[in-house]
Amino acid sequence: MDKYEVNRRVFGNDGFRPGQEQLIDALLAGRDCLGIMPTGGGKSLCYQLPALLLPGLTLVVSPLISLMKDQVAALRSAGVPAACLHSGMEEGAYRELYGGIRRGAYKLVYVAPERLELEGFSQLAGGQALSLLAVDEAHCVSQWGQDFRPSYRRIADFLAGLPRRPAVGAFTATATSEVRDDIIELLGLQNPKVLVTGFDRPNLYFDVLRPRDKMAALLHLIQERPGRCGIVYCSTRARVESVCERLCDAGIAATRYHAGLSDQERRQNQEDFQYDRRSVMVATNAFGMGIDKSNVGYVIHFNMPKSLEAYYQEAGRAGRDGEKADCILLYARGDVTTAEYLIDHSGEEAELPEEIRAQLRLRDRQRLAQMDGYCRTEGCLRAYLLGYFGQAAEAQCGACGNCCAAAAMRDMTVPAQQILSCVKRIRDHLGYWVGPTLVVRVLRGSRDKRLLELGLDGLTTYNLMGGVPQGEVSRYVDRLEQLGYLRRDPSYGTLRLTAAAGDVLYRGKTVGLPERPEEDHLRAPAAAPEAGDSGLLAALKALRLRLARQEGVPAYVIFSNAALADMARRQPETMAQFRAVSGVGQVKAERYGKIFLDAITAYLATVV
Ligand code: ADP
Ligand code: ZN
Repeated sequence: MDKYEVNRRVFGNDGFRPGQEQLIDALLAGRDCLGIMPTGGGKSLCYQLPALLLPGLTLVVSPLISLMKDQVAALRSAGVPAACLHSGMEEGAYRELYGGIRRGAYKLVYVAPERLELEGFSQLAGGQALSLLAVDEAHCVSQWGQDFRPSYRRIADFLAGLPRRPAVGAFTATATSEVRDDIIELLGLQNPKVLVTGFDRPNLYFDVLRPRDKMAALLHLIQERPGRCGIVYCSTRARVESVCERLCDAGIAATRYHAGLSDQERRQNQEDFQYDRRSVMVATNAFGMGIDKSNVGYVIHFNMPKSLEAYYQEAGRAGRDGEKADCILLYARGDVTTAEYLIDHSGEEAELPEEIRAQLRLRDRQRLAQMDGYCRTEGCLRAYLLGYFGQAAEAQCGACGNCCAAAAMRDMTVPAQQILSCVKRIRDHLGYWVGPTLVVRVLRGSRDKRLLELGLDGLTTYNLMGGVPQGEVSRYVDRLEQLGYLRRDPSYGTLRLTAAAGDVLYRGKTVGLPERPEEDHLRAPAAAPEAGDSGLLAALKALRLRLARQEGVPAYVIFSNAALADMARRQPETMAQFRAVSGVGQVKAERYGKIFLDAITAYLATVV
């Protein structure tokens, strides 16, 4: 078999993603490589596929047991002989595994980095024909990153101790040049092929909302996405607790994760989410690298993170299966103030010299300012993100909240002038400013008693917007406030004109209104799979869940969402058609083909 065939028959992929083929070719030719790809970019395939084509054994160094186990489960279910070696194993399991390695029973063995240091293991490895050493999450070798793992430093020693050095492939999603240089140097890569692929994640829809009531907005967003699972990130443990409780009260299957919970509970909750027993995970940023769930349909930030690096990493946990997914941030000015406060008071306990602390604070403040800029930009959100990571991008992606709003901007200059002049007339008449309710009543020609007593029905702006629904007039007023033409007095709730209002009233400045409803800000396009029969898709998902429970594996190990969506689109009726579904390899076709074909036939029989 060649690489295309293996990709098709074992992994069920129709083609390669950007960068994959070059990295695979380098490794097949015995050359070291460093692959820098965003999360969800498909790094695993870059070493798994060569592992199957190269003659000997491939070792994969991976930092997290849960990640290792899932990958091995997925490989086995595709018919690949793979195993993992970590510290949580029983004596008997070791012996069996070592025996298997000696017999050449595996093509891939995943090892925790600490295992490499053990005498027995390096001897065993030295006696095998090793074709490839793959280092996953290679940035863990660098002290620059947040995830530094001292045991990664021993990988180079391990390599040096081998009688024959295999090709080394290092993979990470961290793109900074310090980390890149560290990886090459500290892993001892030799003339590596370095490949950086794009950081864009075209299947992700980005949006920033400014709801008055975040909790109500969150509930709405989740309820708008039934049957999807998602992560809600909050900035503090207390917030995680309160949000999770509210969601559960509303009948949503939510669970939680933060550093204040016992190890056991954290593990339990993470598994409930991973295995789709709970559909929403409410978490602090402690819920991180260990998650390898590909079918996350949305990531909602209840609070703004401290930097765009953190945001993109967390938001990027959505849609790893390539299906459309939403990344929505709920913004409030107060979150910025809190973050600034935390920065100014950070590091006090660490006893660092004041000079260094000042530098760190400055850096953190700059990062926060960029994050805040993202939340407040009216331009394309994707372009802002990619620009921050140093990647050129189209000015308009057409698939983020701002692009969609800009495309649908409506001119509201006339109502803006009517409202602003009404505010001014009322003030001229009464000698003081009034609240928005009264302004709206005057504009709509209300017969309200107080209004009549104040003689406001005599104003030229009275009943100027008589035919316009009240909600719409209020929305115009909100928009004017948001744009800074009106300012609300925080203690009296009255509205006053600002100096800028003169531009609209007298100097011909136009005012635009995003077409989507401002009050809920919530019309993020629901991430429904395109086309396909949604009833059939639901039936296939139910079948997958049943099989997953039977086999005790996460649902996506059976088939990814993308594969099921393709199945629902194609509605295969024969085995040959089934094999053409994206994500279906030979082994999976044999294992699951019949049961899924039966389910499809049964479903189609009920709808015709
Ligand atoms: P990473 O490790 O870079 O975060 P993964 O290796 O976990 O990403 O891959 C993410 C998802 O993309 C997986 O569901 C995987 O099956 C899928 N994938 C990877 N390569 C391809 C490809 N060439 N075609 C289709 N799907 C792919
Ligand atoms: Zn955009």
